[in-house]
Amino acid sequence: MSDLRFDNKVVVITGAGRGLGKAYALFYGSVGAKVLVNDNGCDLDGKNTNPKFADEVVATIKSKGGIAVANYDSVLNGDKIIAHAIKEFGRLDVLINNAGILRDKILAKLTEEDWDIVIKTHLYGTYSVTKAAWPIMRDQGYGRIVNTSSGSGLYGTLGQTNYAAAKAGIVGLTLTLAKEGERRNILCNVLVPVGASRMTETIMPPDVMSGIDPNNLTPILAVLTHESNKEYNGGIYECSGGFFSRVRWQRSEGVSLDLPVKICEVQKNWAKINDFNGKNEYPTGNADLFNKVQENLERLEQQ
Ligand code: NAD
Repeated sequence: MSDLRFDNKVVVITGAGRGLGKAYALFYGSVGAKVLVNDNGCDLDGKNTNPKFADEVVATIKSKGGIAVANYDSVLNGDKIIAHAIKEFGRLDVLINNAGILRDKILAKLTEEDWDIVIKTHLYGTYSVTKAAWPIMRDQGYGRIVNTSSGSGLYGTLGQTNYAAAKAGIVGLTLTLAKEGERRNILCNVLVPVGASRMTETIMPPDVMSGIDPNNLTPILAVLTHESNKEYNGGIYECSGGFFSRVRWQRSEGVSLDLPVKICEVQKNWAKINDFNGKNEYPTGNADLFNKVQENLERLEQQ
């Protein structure tokens, strides 16, 4: 299979001045895309700003013959970021929502400000840029979006209530957009990466850091955001150090109880409710649960 190219495609990447986003920007810049490199250059905790990081990435792309422009707006101003891409390049094909910060503290020590800034940067920021991109993609009948979550958002991590809540929110946002965008050929997926960056340098040993080079995350972005992807939508992909997998929800076989439900019946069936070794299902929408309710009501009617 040949490598994928993005000639004449316009790609917007947020938080692309450093870390994972930088690797993404350099990749798209090397395969023909016109790249808007967004980054406000803030500290890891969201304080201060600095345009130099986006500038440096743009300079590197250009030095290798690529096409790129720097944008320093915060992702809280998604309309400005998208307007800049349209002004510069005239269209928009791919959006990678990647910008992020950390304010890790256990809940007892977390301040309102720590909560708000992390939720705003990740969740509202992803919403804000996507909201501005959406009408353009909808009207042209084409768009590929990848939003960035985290293992914290899927599983929870000590000391990251704010970050985990934001990252879980991004999953719900993306799965809903996948449903809303499908008819307009806008495919939306979630990336759950682990890669070497300032976010991981304090928690991972150097030998692990060298094994989780963010350049190894770009192939899955290429596959998901290329026009040849016509099918993969609403996926959650965990990727790191050359490992790639898809994550989904699992529902235990469960039980259908007679109405009105008695506490003792729930207690009696507790093991079965919690048992994942039965006939598990992998639900993908609310309708899956409504079908279960319907089946139970029909069962009761026939009794
Ligand atoms: P990073 O700190 O190296 O890079 C993030 C970039 O986002 C920075 O350059 C920063 O200036 C920029 N940014 C922050 N707030 C911004 C704002 N309001 N507007 C514009 N730019 C802003 O971090 P990273 O490790 O490269 O993380 C990238 C994404 O991947 C984040 O969403 C992060 O939560 C997620 N993630 C990373 C890992 C990992 O292993 N590194 C794991 C799980 C999830």
